[in-house]
Amino acid sequence: MTSSLTLTDMKLKRIYIQNQLPAVLSPLQRLSHNIWWSWNFAAQDLFHQIDPERFRELNYNPVALLETLDPARINELAADTAFIERLQAVEKAFDAYLAVPKKAGPKLAYFSMEYGLHISLKLYSGGLGVLAGDYLKEASDSNVDLFAVGLLYRYGYFNQGLSMNGDQIHLYPAQKFTQLPVEPVRKADGNWLKVSVPIQGRIVQAKIWKLPIGRINLYLLDTDHEDNSQDDRALTHMLYGGDNEHRLKQEILLGIGGVRAIEAMGLAPEVYHLNEGHAGFLSIERLKNFVAGGLRFPEAVEAVRASSLYTTHTPVPAGHDHFSEHLLRNYLYNYAQELGITWEEFVALGRKDPHNPGEDFNMSNLSIALSQRVNGVSKLHGEVSQEMFTPLYPGYTPNEVHIGYVTNSVHYPTWIAHELHELYSTVFGKDWLADQSNKDIWRNIHKIDDKVLFEARHRLKVRLLDYVREKLKADMQRRGESPRMTYDILSKINNNALVLGFARRFATYKRATLLFQNEERLKALVNRADQPVIFLFAGKAHPADQGGQDLIRRILHVSKKPEFAGKIIFLEDYNMEMAKLLTQGVDIWLNTPTRPLEASGTSGMKAALNGSVNFSVLDGWWAEGYRPDAGWALPLERTYQEQHLQNELDAELIYHTMEEEIIPTYFQRDATGISSKWMHYVKQIIAEVAPTFTMKRMMDDYYERFYFPLAKSQQATSKSNYAKAKAYAAWKEDLRTKWSGIEVLDNNTFDTVNYALPVGETFNAEITIDTNGIDASSLLLEVCFYQRLTEEKIELRRVEAFELKKATGNKATFALALDPRLAGVYEYGFRLRPQHELMPHAQDLNLVFWV
Ligand SMILES: *Cc1c(COP(=O)(O)O)cnc(C)c1O
Repeated sequence: MTSSLTLTDMKLKRIYIQNQLPAVLSPLQRLSHNIWWSWNFAAQDLFHQIDPERFRELNYNPVALLETLDPARINELAADTAFIERLQAVEKAFDAYLAVPKKAGPKLAYFSMEYGLHISLKLYSGGLGVLAGDYLKEASDSNVDLFAVGLLYRYGYFNQGLSMNGDQIHLYPAQKFTQLPVEPVRKADGNWLKVSVPIQGRIVQAKIWKLPIGRINLYLLDTDHEDNSQDDRALTHMLYGGDNEHRLKQEILLGIGGVRAIEAMGLAPEVYHLNEGHAGFLSIERLKNFVAGGLRFPEAVEAVRASSLYTTHTPVPAGHDHFSEHLLRNYLYNYAQELGITWEEFVALGRKDPHNPGEDFNMSNLSIALSQRVNGVSKLHGEVSQEMFTPLYPGYTPNEVHIGYVTNSVHYPTWIAHELHELYSTVFGKDWLADQSNKDIWRNIHKIDDKVLFEARHRLKVRLLDYVREKLKADMQRRGESPRMTYDILSKINNNALVLGFARRFATYKRATLLFQNEERLKALVNRADQPVIFLFAGKAHPADQGGQDLIRRILHVSKKPEFAGKIIFLEDYNMEMAKLLTQGVDIWLNTPTRPLEASGTSGMKAALNGSVNFSVLDGWWAEGYRPDAGWALPLERTYQEQHLQNELDAELIYHTMEEEIIPTYFQRDATGISSKWMHYVKQIIAEVAPTFTMKRMMDDYYERFYFPLAKSQQATSKSNYAKAKAYAAWKEDLRTKWSGIEVLDNNTFDTVNYALPVGETFNAEITIDTNGIDASSLLLEVCFYQRLTEEKIELRRVEAFELKKATGNKATFALALDPRLAGVYEYGFRLRPQHELMPHAQDLNLVFWV
């Protein structure tokens, strides 16, 4: 019965009654409040032992498990000396882990909209979040000086259900914060630390929570409490929910609120890492602080740029948030004034063309404008990003654009199957995890007997298929599918099948239904006598993505046809736990993105660690990871411009590769009953591919390529009250005002119009320029040789700098004597650009003058 009294009338107050564990068990409480347990095998086993069934029901949430543990079980455990001994050992390991002092190095702040740490923390939607979560775990393992900032969502991303028709149902169960491993960050007086963030003239209060990840902390902002209006409380309800305006508000909270939280906690990071453009507003808040501290706007820009890295994660345009000028004005208009600039100048920070009043404010452009360094997430994606952002840098060809890359990777302890880790450890040597990206260690996999490895992997497959049966049964019963069909499907799932997995976000570019181009062919392929094949699918489509949801409907529909019963299976509600089971248990991990839209992809790496062979388009990470003896590939090059023809071709290639290579290789049995040819693929993907895609390699790359250089430039610019930032800003302003007055006075170049240049002769040029008052030492003159690829496309083949021969007053003479070396037809030009000792790359001051 519901009461007619409202809660206020009833004067109800909340009380949190915490389960009291006896002293011997109290370490469990501690362990449950640091997510470290989730990647420590012994700690995981402890929580499993308490109550395996219940633990699973609770999404492996140890805080919830302990909170609801019944007294009889508590007493039993307290009296179980073997359990207590194990508990003490784990606690000792935990303390030893925590006791190691941090490595010296720059202090880093990492910002992300989502974090995939564990299934019980609904802070993630997909790959971006899982990457960030894996990265933080590695930051802890590598013991670096890093903390992270994000939002604590009440509902997070949706849980997926399906209707009988395959319509996606969006479920949003609330998280109970008392059952999460988070704790309030408190002020010295014991009160909860809050920061205020201005949103449309209102002050929104955000509470700060701390989520310990091993040795490091993730700080999370939460607006869902009584201080705020209903609307503002909803700011931290859903991840990627709501409209564009809602997203804008969330990004203001993350960026601006995040920087305020850092300040309030007295943390003083040297380098800021923006994981995706969602966090772009953090740089605006930092600008404001620098301006308030006495720097002029252009100086503040230098201070912020010198300490910021922006990582872009997708070449899909829809993946880059943008807001109309009108919308932005409603929220951030006052910032322009606080920064000492006009509103037009403010909006220009997020535009490709600052003078185009119709152009939206784009978070990627903003992030690029205020970050000295930018990177993509695989080698290929780095190149695609250079291409994508070339319009920001007129005068440069894509391969000159300063955007670099660090290829994504995965956190080994999170994604490896325990059994395999134990098996690897028998031959990989002692403490090998500290050197986990070293291939020489992994090559010892060849010391393991084929049959032993095959059987270990087979057990993982059986575990996966057991899970599939159980899950499918529950899903189908809930959907109301007929019992006959349900049992028909369940009975046809064969443990000896070759199992392929395809699971990821259902964005249309990932082409989940490519396999169904030709159902007849697919039918023959999965129904060969004695060579059963199973395809497992899973994944969520964004609630607003009808195209993605259509793909799910199609797969569910196919999976119910009698000829595909137990062969094509869709599992509802993809999440990190399912991802583990799948990537550990399948034989082949399949990925079929439209080139070149898969920035990296990481689930294939999880598979690789576990010896699941990949079969994928040579896009993203697989373009780097693929080797012919360690998996299969669909070619990178596009054959057809028209996508439907390309899909048809790719589907043909998939069927062909399956029929002619993968299936025969897998089922070719030797005297030992297994396929040694298959096991060679398995061992090669473990030995030659997996180590490169472990998180340690990625973290090392970030330090080497970005964090260390940024820490250096941050230190250089900030010294003596930002003296260098000021000088550098003044230099830039000076060049900007004078640049358009540069003129050519004399050009004495070999006459390439009338004569060919024989190889062996020297190409001479001498050019005199009126510098319009710019110091000649600030100018670099280059000759650029291009080769024309198409009407619109040229490729840079060679750049050589001139020497400054003479400089008097406004006159500067540059000379060049060049050995042309490469024969052929080129187009060339003389490019004058700025140079300065603080310039990290040519485009840091984006001025080009063509002679
Ligand atoms: C690893 C993972 C992803 C990322 O998959 P991609 O291969 O990058 O598409 C997405 N969702 C979950 C739950 C994951 O564990």
